Amino acid sequence: MSVSIRIPTPLRPHVAGARQVAVEAADVRAALAALTAQHAGIAPHLFAENGDLRAFVNLYLGDDDVRYLKGLDTPLPAGATLSIVPSVAGGLDLDTSHIKFTNEEMRRYSRHLILPDIGVAGQKRLKAARVLLVGTGGLGSPAALYLAAAGVGTIGLIDFDTVDESNLQRQIIHGTSTLGKLKVESAKARIHDINPFIDVETYNEPLTSENALDLIREYDIVIDGTDNFQTRYLVNDACVLLGKINVYGSIYRFDGQASVFGAKDGPCYRCLYSEPPPPGLVPSCAEGGVLGVLPGVIGVIQATEAVKIITGAGEPLIGRLLVYDALEMSFRTLKLRKNPDCLICGEHPKITGLIDYDEFCGVKPVAEEPANVVPEITVTELATRLKAGLGGARLIDVREPNEWDIVRIPGATLMPKATVPDHLDELAQASELFIQCRSGVRSADIVRFLRTVGFTNVKNVKGGVLAWAREVDRSLPTY
Ligand code: ZN
Repeated sequence: MSVSIRIPTPLRPHVAGARQVAVEAADVRAALAALTAQHAGIAPHLFAENGDLRAFVNLYLGDDDVRYLKGLDTPLPAGATLSIVPSVAGGLDLDTSHIKFTNEEMRRYSRHLILPDIGVAGQKRLKAARVLLVGTGGLGSPAALYLAAAGVGTIGLIDFDTVDESNLQRQIIHGTSTLGKLKVESAKARIHDINPFIDVETYNEPLTSENALDLIREYDIVIDGTDNFQTRYLVNDACVLLGKINVYGSIYRFDGQASVFGAKDGPCYRCLYSEPPPPGLVPSCAEGGVLGVLPGVIGVIQATEAVKIITGAGEPLIGRLLVYDALEMSFRTLKLRKNPDCLICGEHPKITGLIDYDEFCGVKPVAEEPANVVPEITVTELATRLKAGLGGARLIDVREPNEWDIVRIPGATLMPKATVPDHLDELAQASELFIQCRSGVRSADIVRFLRTVGFTNVKNVKGGVLAWAREVDRSLPTY
């Protein structure tokens, strides 16, 4: 009988790149014997030394696992297709025995069901899978939309913010109609509009060292859509400790990265970056800006990786870092190695539980800082001072020129944060300095910096230009 054997991507190099190999065989055992007779190089990937089929290689006749038929003795009718489905590294152990589809779901997922490498078996795995999205922002939005559309059975959403107008430039799961609502509720409503057949579990709270293990334990895959280093290391460490797959994505201005961490033999985020940059060195998207479509590209790549890992199709980005440059429109993949000295996934791990990630990243919550570290002036006090004339005092705006073009406080001088150290002599001429940015965070950094280099009469403008637009001149735009 002529049957065809479908070869998965990782094994194709051993069969001269073929997707399918035709053999003459009456049962599964004979088919594999014929395959290895034609292509000897594939044999060690399928069989252990004692001749047994390797435990991570599964064989499917149509959408049935042959283990549940007659194993290697399963007869193959003429024209049958036998699929080799190796588990991915750290592969997902998904029980699909209870999964059934209604006719409505069959229609909805028909383009998947007819797709080789997904099919009914893959769609069942999608429905059985549980994926946690950390953040429903720029990366979480597109990832959640596509995972919902793809039929991932349970989607967890964790976020602790409300929808703001400035989110809508990229956080496409939210909309004008949900402004002011909780992000997790806004996202849940949109997901259910796309696909009412899936469950959405929401957590309106930050991910912390206290709740991370309990939360992540309940899921198969975590999509890291965080925007700060503390949460990124927390997600990484929790996933490594629990043996969960962590689909990583990050964005900044026009550049993005993606990878898959936490797989059994693959590297983790700490293998890539063992330490975070010093606080303030790498600006957040709120400070540095981000091209709105960029998280769309990276978030969809994260969703793609999740779908591949769940269904076992293709080769996940394990041990590879994808680097995307939107301005060049280039994608590069860099090899990533597991670091044997990695503090959490290395040969002698030193981190065996979750730690204080604010401390690790050198950031302490604002509330814990003594109030006297950054002297402040309110925007109403500043307005009074400006009206009376600044005299020898100066108002310094440490934002970027693009932000200056949007809105500014009359009387301010633009001096982007990074250039301040070059202007110390000039600043020393002033009798008093008021430092201002968008919301008061960057300017507080500069006030602290100036105080450490000897400036005494320097104050942070509390709330920045946003507070000015809110409390002094309401005609001004905000961003
Ligand atoms: Zn590691």
